[in-house]
Formats: sequence, structure tokens, C-alpha cells
Amino acid sequence: MSTKSREVIWGGRVMGAKMRAEGAREEARKAVRAADRAEAEAWSVRMEGFGGPAQPSPTIGQCLNGGLGWLGVECNRCNTRASLPLDAIRRPRDTPLWKLEASLKCRSCRKGRYAPPVHMIKLTERREIKWVHPSEER
Ligand SMILES: [Zn+2]
Repeated sequence: MSTKSREVIWGGRVMGAKMRAEGAREEARKAVRAADRAEAEAWSVRMEGFGGPAQPSPTIGQCLNGGLGWLGVECNRCNTRASLPLDAIRRPRDTPLWKLEASLKCRSCRKGRYAPPVHMIKLTERREIKWVHPSEER
């Protein structure tokens, strides 16, 4: 068999198999994204509806991959709310969200070195809140 005919006979099959592999990989990526989103949503609904528990929680990476890249938080003291972009948080992507809570502080009522803690409310696709102080709300 010449190299030429071998190419004709097998080349197409190799190409077809490669395309199927690529397609399957893309399907798998979509499935992971859907699962990440579902998990992030479930956590968000639990937080918003029941106020927790925050554990277990999805990771930063899962939330970003699922398209829910903004974390809504509220100050425990002054009730100021804010949306934080998860992609700007300098933590490994496999950090679960609940681990962030302790390091999040309220910007509005910080006094010197003391800043009151915040709690997490929910996840959103876009920025929903911009450091809104309760006294500024209608
Ligand atoms: Zn505050």
C-alpha cells in the first residue's frame, strides 16, 4: 500500500475521531460549567433565603466558571451592602467562599484599624450593589 492511499484511507478516520474527541471535550466543559453554576446558585439561594449556613460552599473558581462572579455582602454593624468581584479577590481559585468571609471588612464604617465584619448574602452575574449605605436608600 502506498503512502498516498494509506493517507486517503486512514486520514479521514483519524480526522473524524479527533473531531469527535474535541466535541466530547466541549460537551464536558459545558457540563462542568452547568454543574458549577447549579452549585453556586444552590448556595446563593440558601444564603439569601435562609441566611446560611455558608458551609459547604462552592469555590471562587466554580462561581466564576458558572457565571456568578459577584458576591453580595452586608456589614454586620451598619448594614451597608456591596457587590464584590470574585475575579479580583487575590486567593487561589479553589478557595471555598465561606473562607473569604472572615477577611471581608466593611469600608463604610471602618474606624482606624478596626473594621466590622460583613456577612455574605448571595451571588449574582453582575454587580448589583455599590456600597449602598442604609441611610442612602430610599
Ligand atoms: Zn459597616
